[in-house]
Amino acid sequence: MSRPGSVIVTGGASGIGLAVVEELLAEGWRVVAADLVPESIEKARAALAAHGDKVRVVQADISDEAQVVKLVAETESGFGPLWGVVNSAGIARDIPALETSADIFRKILDVNVIGTFLVAREAAKVMQARSAGSIVNIASVSGIQGNLGRAAYGSSKGAVVVLTKILAVEFAALGIRVNAIAPGPVDTPLVQAVHTDQARAAWLARVPLNRYAQPKEMAGTIAFLLDPEKSSYVTGQTIGVDGGFTAGGLIGL
Ligand code: NAD
Repeated sequence: MSRPGSVIVTGGASGIGLAVVEELLAEGWRVVAADLVPESIEKARAALAAHGDKVRVVQADISDEAQVVKLVAETESGFGPLWGVVNSAGIARDIPALETSADIFRKILDVNVIGTFLVAREAAKVMQARSAGSIVNIASVSGIQGNLGRAAYGSSKGAVVVLTKILAVEFAALGIRVNAIAPGPVDTPLVQAVHTDQARAAWLARVPLNRYAQPKEMAGTIAFLLDPEKSSYVTGQTIGVDGGFTAGGLIGL
């Protein structure tokens, strides 16, 4: 299928981002995967090599404004007109509020909120010339519900939910849609690093589908939100892709 342009996926070398890159390539998009960690970048390059010049895996720190400006400019001028962005880069910490330092809180806001904002802003600057584009942010159920240990992370994702609405309103006049997904627990390197066995059991007790998602299960909803045909009247929404977590109350006796 012919596609209207290229897509940048931040955090595209791991977890949800990498699964999105694979889904978009399968759907005929040209994709720039941007990530921070050299080892993950090398692994992703090897995993995606069969797609040839349809994909680039590049290094960029989304919390660094100059690097974001360069990422978007180089994609637009050297890879193909930018149609979409998936803001999957993010960091998480699971710590009680009483032990959360200002430094940790600021670091999480810096990447998850300001980084997401910078990529969306720079992308919108080039997309507005064509009055077309779609931005998809990754929030979290922890940005909607009060989850234990999530003072910094949950606040950052709550900010992403509101940022998504604000940018949807501001960018509507530019022809650009902005949406988010709010994943429940997804088996990725990030979650493997922060979820203890006890945490896993606690999550499963609250997820009606009673399992963690695979990264690929996020990719379909994200691809739908990017698709100019399928989601052309959807903007400002945060769609829960959470196994029923945010719908649930009492889910077992
Ligand atoms: P992951 O750690 O597998 O992938 C995140 C990627 O982002 C990593 O490759 C990391 O190197 C990259 N990254 C981190 N900081 C960056 C920066 N400053 N610049 C560029 N890249 C950076 O994690 P994941 O689980 O795939 O998470 C993807 C997104 O989904 C995150 O925003 C996360 O908060 C969100 N999320 C994940 C879950 C889950 O259960 N896994 C649930 C809800 C939301």
